[in-house]
Amino acid sequence: MAAVPDDAADPTPAGRYAPSPSGDLHLGNLRTALLAWLFARSTGRRFLLRIDDLDRVRPGAQERQLADLAALGLDWDGPVVRQSGRLPRYDAAIERLTAAGRTYECYCTRREIQQAATAPHGPMGAYPGTCRDLTEAARARKRAEGRPAALRLRADVHEFTVHDQLHGDYRGPVDDVVLRRGDGIPAYNLAVVVDDAEQGVDQVVRGDDLLPSTPRQAYLATLLGLPVPHYAHVPLVLNEEGKRLAKRDGAVTLADRRALGNTPEQVLALLAGSLGLAGNTPSQVLARFDPALLPGQPWIVSPDRLLQPSGCP
Ligand code: GLU
Repeated sequence: MAAVPDDAADPTPAGRYAPSPSGDLHLGNLRTALLAWLFARSTGRRFLLRIDDLDRVRPGAQERQLADLAALGLDWDGPVVRQSGRLPRYDAAIERLTAAGRTYECYCTRREIQQAATAPHGPMGAYPGTCRDLTEAARARKRAEGRPAALRLRADVHEFTVHDQLHGDYRGPVDDVVLRRGDGIPAYNLAVVVDDAEQGVDQVVRGDDLLPSTPRQAYLATLLGLPVPHYAHVPLVLNEEGKRLAKRDGAVTLADRRALGNTPEQVLALLAGSLGLAGNTPSQVLARFDPALLPGQPWIVSPDRLLQPSGCP
C-alpha cells in the first residue's frame, strides 16, 4: 500500500508546526511553535506550517496565528498548507485502507460508545467494536434508520510502540480509530498521518497531550506504508492550578502581552527563559539550543505576574 510522498518536491526532511485555527495562540502554543522551529532548524530540516482546519475554525484566527508566529521571528519554508485544501488526499488514503479490508462503517452515537463496556482486550475508553462485525443485513437496517455512518479502522493490534526523543519508548493503545467522521469529514488522526508523510515531515514536535494518540498514528502510517516520523512531545504550559493554560488565565496571547506593553522580543525572551535558554530572536535562542537540556517538567505560569512592562517580575 506504499505511497510516494508527492508534495515533497524538496527532499530535505522537514519539521512542522500545525495549529488548529480555533482561536489565538497562547503562550503554551507559541512555546511549542518555538520548540518545533528549534528542533527543525537545529537539525538542518525545513520548517513547515500547516493549518489543521478540518475542525473548529474561528474566522480570522489563522491569519492572527501566522502574524503572531512571524512577529516572534519564526520563519517557515514554502506555502502554508491547509488541510481543507487536501480532502482528496485523505479520501485516497481511506480508499486504500478500504480496498485492503481495513475499514468498516460505524453507526454508534457518542453516547452509545460511552455507555458500552470497553472492548475485552482493549484499553479503557477504546471503541468496543460494536459495529465491527455487523452482518450486511444489520448494516442495511442501521442505514435505513438514517444513522449517519462514521468509517473506522479495523485495527489488528491493541497496542503499538513509538520512540520519542524526550519520552523514550512509549507503548500505548490502538483501537478502531475513526477515519472519517459521521459528517463526512476526515478525522484528525488520519489527516495528520497523510499530511506528515506527503509533506516530507519526518520530525513531529508537539505538545505532550498528543503523546497518547501517537501509537495510533504510527500504526496507521505503518498500515498505509508510510514512514513513521521521529517524535518529540514537549511539556505543556500549565496555570497555577496545574491545568493546561487557557485564554481565561489572563494575558496569554501575544496581543494581550502587547497590550501590557511587552514587545514580541520580550515575549520570545520569556519563552526562551522558560526553556532554560536566552535570546530575543529565534536565531539567538537556536545558538544555545540543546534538546538534551530541555526541562522535562511543564512550565507553570501565572500570566498576570509575568514580565510587567516596568520590567519588575
Ligand atoms: N492541530 C493539532 C492541535 O493544534 C496538532 C496536531 C499535531 O501537531 O499533530 O492540537
